[in-house]
Amino acid sequence: MGNVIPYGRQDINDQDITAVVDTLKSDFLTQGPKIAEFENAFAHYTGAKYAVVLSNGTAALHLAALALRVKEGDKVITSPITFAASANGFRYCGAELYFVDIDPRTYNLDINKLRSLLESHPKGTFKGVIPVDFAGYPVDLEEFCKLADEYNLFLVEDACHAPGGYFKNSKGEQVNCGNGQYADISVFSFHPVKHIAAGEGGMITTNNKELYDELILLRTHGITKSEDLLTENHGGWYYEMHNLGYNYRITDFQAALGISQLSRADKGVERRLEIAEKYTQAFEGTKVKTPFVESSVQHAHHLYVIQVEDRKGLYDYLRENKILAQVHYIPIHLMPYYKNLGWKEGDCPIAEAYYEHCLSLPMFPTLTVEEQDFVIEKVLEFVK
Ligand SMILES: *Cc1c(COP(=O)(O)O)cnc(C)c1O
Repeated sequence: MGNVIPYGRQDINDQDITAVVDTLKSDFLTQGPKIAEFENAFAHYTGAKYAVVLSNGTAALHLAALALRVKEGDKVITSPITFAASANGFRYCGAELYFVDIDPRTYNLDINKLRSLLESHPKGTFKGVIPVDFAGYPVDLEEFCKLADEYNLFLVEDACHAPGGYFKNSKGEQVNCGNGQYADISVFSFHPVKHIAAGEGGMITTNNKELYDELILLRTHGITKSEDLLTENHGGWYYEMHNLGYNYRITDFQAALGISQLSRADKGVERRLEIAEKYTQAFEGTKVKTPFVESSVQHAHHLYVIQVEDRKGLYDYLRENKILAQVHYIPIHLMPYYKNLGWKEGDCPIAEAYYEHCLSLPMFPTLTVEEQDFVIEKVLEFVK
């Protein structure tokens, strides 16, 4: 085994390269036809009505916060076990972050703890909640939606780990991550470690036309040329800036890569499920705790997270063998930045205990059978 095995890796093939090169040779490097094409394909993939492609997933979270009118001091709730951007996107608008502990089985934000938090404050205290489909495990958004409606909260699904995941609702219908049925807004990322790589990139999906219109404006400086929005019209050159937006555009050649990658997304998820199944079988009856998966959900397996007694020992042992396992995540509430805002050890005990023992094993569609066998062999060698 000469090569290093990372925990995640993009898969770029000739079709992807041709798509990018063709776009580089076309008339548009940015804001050309690939933008709408990617948005339409992604809306179709998730089942959402509208999709807005952006420069990255963090920009998607920031625009979600802006479109939902998050203001200085608004209280919003997310999970401590996620990438920092899930919280930061709202913090950019001055929101005060609340971290609610995770469910020890799914590692997603625990809805019962969320309910307790909401019940222990006067109605109207909180503005919104941002559950995360952690590692690709779909949040039961139907349940979150009920609670959000009861407390008048917005619901933003951070689905960056979960394109291709789904759960079944109480009617037994399949609810795809990001399909817009329950969440106001869902966000995705096209960073190379995620399922669909565009270099950098992000997407928002929603079924809400008003939010969609607002997001389109915010993506490009709050500027519009749309005739039905203009308050005056001086001629063909005329445009108006209606609110303080940003430059969160993505390029056409990145969108071309995204479209090409999206066409293989289902195959990628299938392969991820196969890899997960093999790990889970290999670790059965050992000291390695494997991920819980309810039979009614399709886990998208962005990550395959195990828990072991001596996590640091295993991490170092795998490194010695050129297996670059990773830790997802250091709880956000324990980051110095959020500690300075008042969060401390003991605030989310389940997340903190999870962090002590978690390790993400290599999980990506092009992981070979030999590579996976080698990873399994080394993990078992260590825990025995
Ligand atoms: C990757 C990721 C993001 C941010 O996406 P970028 O495209 O890197 O900005 C947000 N939330 C989660 C859960 C992520 O994994």
